[in-house]
Amino acid sequence: ADTFDEECDFLFKAVLIGDSGVGKSNLLSRFAKDEFRLDSKPTIGVEFAYRNIKVGDKLIKAQIWDTAGQERQKYYAAELNNEHGFRAITSSYYRGASGAVLVYDITMRSSYENVRKWLLELREFGGEEMVVVLVGNKCDLDQSREVEKEEGKGYAETEGLCFMETSALKNLNVEEVFLQMITRIYHMTR
Ligand code: GDP
Ligand code: MG
Repeated sequence: ADTFDEECDFLFKAVLIGDSGVGKSNLLSRFAKDEFRLDSKPTIGVEFAYRNIKVGDKLIKAQIWDTAGQERQKYYAAELNNEHGFRAITSSYYRGASGAVLVYDITMRSSYENVRKWLLELREFGGEEMVVVLVGNKCDLDQSREVEKEEGKGYAETEGLCFMETSALKNLNVEEVFLQMITRIYHMTR
């Protein structure tokens, strides 16, 4: 049993968004369980994971939600037949979230071009003061790179987002992304 729940000082919710296949689920399993899966299956519906983090003398429980990008829309096809259903489902995913990790794949240009669409959704459904980190994942595949680091970084700056390149495979910067987000959320709520 986990007695940590009662001792935890803060609980934050954050969401993972981005096209399917960019590595959202592997970033989450790397952060939450230090696991990576080469054959990972598409996420069905919504999953979430927790991790406890210490910032100063405070214990923070981070609840991170992972969804299925475009699959979300297929999975909920029935409800999506009407605009009302889509809005209800999308807003429940974002409800109460203080942070978002918006992921693209540096080897898949289209996933970077879709970042703009994800930001629109985020700004429509997310809260006013969300901390957003733009993440260019799969930086271990530098030989197949289709998005330069400077490009992602420059875009993040113009949009007021934090930015990092990561590799869920090589475990590069994964911890840093989540810690940066959680620390910022914590300081914003102070
Ligand atoms: P999701 O659809 O965004 O949740 O993406 P997944 O986490 O399911 O990953 C999609 C595919 O990309 C899987 O085959 C993963 O093994 C692979 N993948 C994820 N992260 C990385 C990474 O950092 N480097 C490499 N080389 N492959 C990755
Ligand atoms: Mg997934």
